[in-house]
Amino acid sequence: MADVKYKRIMLKLSGEALAGDKGFGINPPVIKTVAEEVKSVYNLGIQIAIVVGGGNMWRGVSGEQMGMERAQADYIGMLATIMNALALQDNLESIGVPTRVQTSIEMRQIAEPYIRRKAIRHLEKERVVIFAGGTGSPYFSTDTTAALRAAEINADAILMAKNGVDGIYSADPNKDPNAVKFDQLTQLDIINKGLHVMDTTASSLSMDNDIPFVVFNLNQPGNIRKVVEGENIGTTVRG
Ligand code: UDP
Repeated sequence: MADVKYKRIMLKLSGEALAGDKGFGINPPVIKTVAEEVKSVYNLGIQIAIVVGGGNMWRGVSGEQMGMERAQADYIGMLATIMNALALQDNLESIGVPTRVQTSIEMRQIAEPYIRRKAIRHLEKERVVIFAGGTGSPYFSTDTTAALRAAEINADAILMAKNGVDGIYSADPNKDPNAVKFDQLTQLDIINKGLHVMDTTASSLSMDNDIPFVVFNLNQPGNIRKVVEGENIGTTVRG
């Protein structure tokens, strides 16, 4: 294995990461690029688990705003993450990366059900494991899913891939020219400074389980690899 900082990673890809400029649906060239980025890290010999979001298709909150029952709207969101997972699996396998999709809601005809020990076994056998369906419960997010599964599989770090944002700033860099980027933060800093990075359930889970997370820009080629190799890009948050 190459000299890397993290040997088993949890990569969180938001649905947006697969959508491209339109912000909606799956954009074939975009998802292909994401798959190539994952492959370059896979080739280093590290173990990769991925949680995909579904915001490029549906968010429960939006459904609720349209008058739907929240839990029902959230189930639609969870199904959206499964569609993304299947598309990502297809793209990874087409470039020779072995994968398994595990869903939190059983769908045996198209993917394995989530079984923690089996997921770990897949990782050990050098398969990329894509966790789909979120936690399987409404009122949660896929950020929380990433923190939960990271703890369950003993991941060394959670890589929070962002679109166009290269880390955590003191203010919105698009609105405030004085916004400063942080290289390192503690979870407490995030709370004290009132920074919005991930939802509180996700951040308290990663803090409780002492799993660092790195917020970085996915749109810059080679960035996943740089994080894994320990290059100081993005913002690293520790407990
Ligand atoms: N969701 C859920 N429970 C989970 C994970 C996701 O109910 O454990 C639903 C929720 O409605 C959410 C949607 O799935 O809005 C898509 O997930 P998310 O918004 O986290 O996707 P992302 O923003 O990462 O694309």
